[in-house]
Amino acid sequence: MISFIRQNSLATAEVKFGDKLHDYLTHLPTHSLFMEHLDYALSMVKRHEKVLAVVNLDIEKLSEVNQQYGYKNGDTLITETANRLVDLTRDSDIIARLGGSGFGLIMNFIERGEEVDKALQRIMKGMRLPFSVAGENIILKISYGICVYPTDQGSVDELSHYASLALDNAKQAGGNVHRYYNSEMNVDNSKRLRKEYDLRKALENGEFVLYFQPKVDAATGNIKGMEALIRWLHPERGIVSPLEFIPLLEESGMIVEAGDWVLRESCRLNKLWQDQGLEPLRVSVNVSSVQFKQGDFVERIALALKDTGLSADYLDVELTESCLMDDVTKNIDVLYEIKKMGVAISIDDFGTGYSSLSYLKKFPIDTLKIDRSFITNVQDRSGGDNAAIVTAIMALSHSLRLDVVAEGVETAQELAYLHALGCKTIQGFLFSKPLSVDEFTKIQQDSMHMKNILEQVRIELAG
Ligand code: C2E
Ligand code: MG
Ligand code: MG
Repeated sequence: MISFIRQNSLATAEVKFGDKLHDYLTHLPTHSLFMEHLDYALSMVKRHEKVLAVVNLDIEKLSEVNQQYGYKNGDTLITETANRLVDLTRDSDIIARLGGSGFGLIMNFIERGEEVDKALQRIMKGMRLPFSVAGENIILKISYGICVYPTDQGSVDELSHYASLALDNAKQAGGNVHRYYNSEMNVDNSKRLRKEYDLRKALENGEFVLYFQPKVDAATGNIKGMEALIRWLHPERGIVSPLEFIPLLEESGMIVEAGDWVLRESCRLNKLWQDQGLEPLRVSVNVSSVQFKQGDFVERIALALKDTGLSADYLDVELTESCLMDDVTKNIDVLYEIKKMGVAISIDDFGTGYSSLSYLKKFPIDTLKIDRSFITNVQDRSGGDNAAIVTAIMALSHSLRLDVVAEGVETAQELAYLHALGCKTIQGFLFSKPLSVDEFTKIQQDSMHMKNILEQVRIELAG
């Protein structure tokens, strides 16, 4: 039988390290011993009608610490975290290392439920104090998931599962927060798993298709390029918007495969249009930051171009500011490799991210795509600060010699205002919604289609 003697304490060095029950680095119990402790603790609190809390906590982005300071310092940080946790908890609490950056805590034999929160607040406060890594002070971002017995009822496995669901929930909320388990998390999780399963099937069954939205020259009505936008042709629900499934593809890592398909399919279709004798256009492909951060992203682009025979001049990748800002030095290198191939680079949803001028200058980019939120009613007061923001972006683009695309242009008035500010390329429902391959082929064949819309716009503005 396991006693409540603090076997996890780093001071009790006589415990058997290096066995499967203890972590080699911190000497804390590993998952299997943690579960044994939990089993015993649960039986004791049941017998004495006390309260018990299971806490799962996870240090965010530990891999970045490893990257920046080296694995040795990363290991030291984990040991320090373990030490700090031991210091912040009572002797009767159990602490374990559950995985790479994950720790488990059993708060034991508590009199009343409210005490759990008090203890947790104290622990979280202590964990927010800086840690010293390679002579630098860093503050860790830690997420916590908590379940409390007897409020939450269940077996040892269930309580442990509840704490980990609550941790997932904290991470999905952006991280660096704590969440108590509630039964809806179970429902949410099974819904998520179901959807993840459906998406995997969709990928296998080829249920994704591409739509294309034209980018139009505001002065002539010529189509200057198009953006490829993914759609899920769901067997029962019909067309499903990417806003509904891209986040889950990203969380599950499936975006790498799906994104690669988008890239290749965009190149393939664009080459096909060119082979049909249509005016060559540049296709823009959205790239998720998960995809961009894969070490082989540049090679994947090169391979897509080679396999489809599309010239690099007719490909553009759309990246967001936030994707580029988290490891600027490395990202600049990757961007230069992409540029060297001859592929163009756009910043998508521009204005919603960091917009750091000094970094923008360093990125080898071609185009800023002004986010739709700044375009709405840009021409009048109901658009709030939009006119000022768009004016500033236009000035910036002139000084950095960048092209600008206005996204989400829906009215003649918005178009006229943007054109007057010097924005030459327009993408929005005013000219066209995203179109299926067949529809997009037709409007490419009909050189008057966009010109007629532009003529209508002129008539509307004149009248
Ligand atoms: P985005 O890249 O900023 O794409 C523009 C979005 O704005 C598209 O939504 C487009 O349909 C919509 N839009 C364009 N003009 C107008 C307009 O005048 N009015 C309104 N109300 N909307 C307009 P969509 O296709 O639903 O895509 C949403 C987002 O999903 C995209 O935003 C992009 O972030 C993501 N996405 C789409 N396809 C892909 C893809 O293949 N890969 C990745 N990673 N993300 C994608
Ligand atoms: Mg885009
Ligand atoms: Mg956008």
